[in-house]
Amino acid sequence: MTSEGLRMEPSVAIIGAGFAGLCMAIHLEKAGIRSYTIFERGSDVGGTWRDNTYPGAGCDIPSHLYSFSFEKYSSWTCRYPGQSEILGYLRMCADKYSLRPRIRLNTEVTAAAFDETLGRWRVRTRDGEQLFDVLVTGMGQLSRPRLPDIPGMSDFAGVAFHSARWDHSQDLSGRRVAVVGNGSSAAQLIPRIAEVAERVDVFQRTPNWVLPKPDATFGEVTGTAFRYLPFLQRAYREWLLRYTEIVAHPVLTDGWSAPLARRRALNHLRAQVPDPRLRAKLTPGYPIGCRRIIVDSEFYPALSRPNVNVVTDEIVRIAPEGVVTTEGLHPADVIVYATGFLAADFLAPVEITGRRRRRLRQEWEGGAQAYLGIAVPHFPNLFMLYGPNTNLGHTSVVFMIECQVRYVMGCLPYLAERGPMEVTPEAMRAWRLRLGRAMESTVWRAGCTSWYTDATGRVTGNWPATVALYRRITRAPRPAAFRFSR
Ligand code: NAP
Repeated sequence: MTSEGLRMEPSVAIIGAGFAGLCMAIHLEKAGIRSYTIFERGSDVGGTWRDNTYPGAGCDIPSHLYSFSFEKYSSWTCRYPGQSEILGYLRMCADKYSLRPRIRLNTEVTAAAFDETLGRWRVRTRDGEQLFDVLVTGMGQLSRPRLPDIPGMSDFAGVAFHSARWDHSQDLSGRRVAVVGNGSSAAQLIPRIAEVAERVDVFQRTPNWVLPKPDATFGEVTGTAFRYLPFLQRAYREWLLRYTEIVAHPVLTDGWSAPLARRRALNHLRAQVPDPRLRAKLTPGYPIGCRRIIVDSEFYPALSRPNVNVVTDEIVRIAPEGVVTTEGLHPADVIVYATGFLAADFLAPVEITGRRRRRLRQEWEGGAQAYLGIAVPHFPNLFMLYGPNTNLGHTSVVFMIECQVRYVMGCLPYLAERGPMEVTPEAMRAWRLRLGRAMESTVWRAGCTSWYTDATGRVTGNWPATVALYRRITRAPRPAAFRFSR
């Protein structure tokens, strides 16, 4: 392998202009590296926050934590930001750091292959092929909507769409709406559509644990304080982070706070759902935290409305007139599929080929895995952001992204000095063992179905430990874990 392409300032291809891609670009800009291109298949920056525009879309992680540590924002209007505010924040970041000239919108990367002779990546889009030293993926885990495979879906005579592809041309006022699914997206959109629809049938397969959302608007005094006293923002963010680590994380390992969280969720259910029959339907029968906990205070009241019906019979098929369950037809004018995302198919739309024509898809046939969630053996200079096992069930994933970006920045001097780098199979094996051991103490092992796991039941989505540990182990690359071409 020659290393013709490895200059002091490497060229970097970034896929995706969401939180991850923008964070990478900002750090390159800060380091004075301008030889990067962000390829974005959509028409704007923002990733999932550009795509998910369903009514009520927002984040259940507080805004001060669900944002970059280096880009504090005093304009948040409330503790839990809505979709448009988060999108506004990301757009502001793209503008403030002058990223836009290097973002190629409406440009999907279809394939990327490592050219061993050049020691560079050939990145393919519809415009042709371009060479880069480094390939960084920031494609998200929740970017590709998953439609269910229910017989008769194409026969439906009304309008149907996925929650992440909301059809805003449809006025739901006075209409009969079927919502398939009851995850975090459904929990946010049902209260909004129940206010206008004639009737909403919610098709629930598995009940979820729901905790109240202690939202609050930031008034003028708080806003001004955040604006003029930056240490206040820093302290608030730090407090939020510590709280999630110390109180929320043990829920995921069935630790000291798990019984408290369970009791809080059951109290929330009792307080908000007076009907004991509906309560029974909504009571989960698996450990709290095993699937993504919903944090919402409007979901249960919406389900208790007279025009909302929670259907727990199995869906058999979709008929032209509506949804057919084992108990019969539920007529509908509109079907909303709030059925989640193809989360386990990491990087799937892009055909990625490493050394010796190894295809990432084949390497991952037994489930996606990456050293620190970032690097894969045989794929030199490929770095993943928000890759396998880096999702969180208790705090902000933006924190993880920042750790990964710092790690990649730490790799760049090695690349310049020692040529393309790839993680060794030994380091990967040791990582897998370590991850497996940590996974054993989590509630995800309880066997419930969720997007945290792949088809074989292996947890490929989530990080099993604290984010403090992740920050520590990703602080700087360990050269011994890599093989260099020079
Ligand atoms: P999800 O949590 O994966 O939920 C999908 C829902 O669809 C589940 O209720 C699932 O039932 C149901 N479903 C799937 N296929 C079905 C079928 N064939 N028949 C009947 N039901 C079916 O998806 P999501 O609600 O879009 O949320 C995904 C993730 O996005 C969340 O977990 C969260 O991490 C993130 N999110 C975050 C926020 C936030 O506030 N931060 C908001 C929205 C989304 P089963 O459960 O039985 O499989």
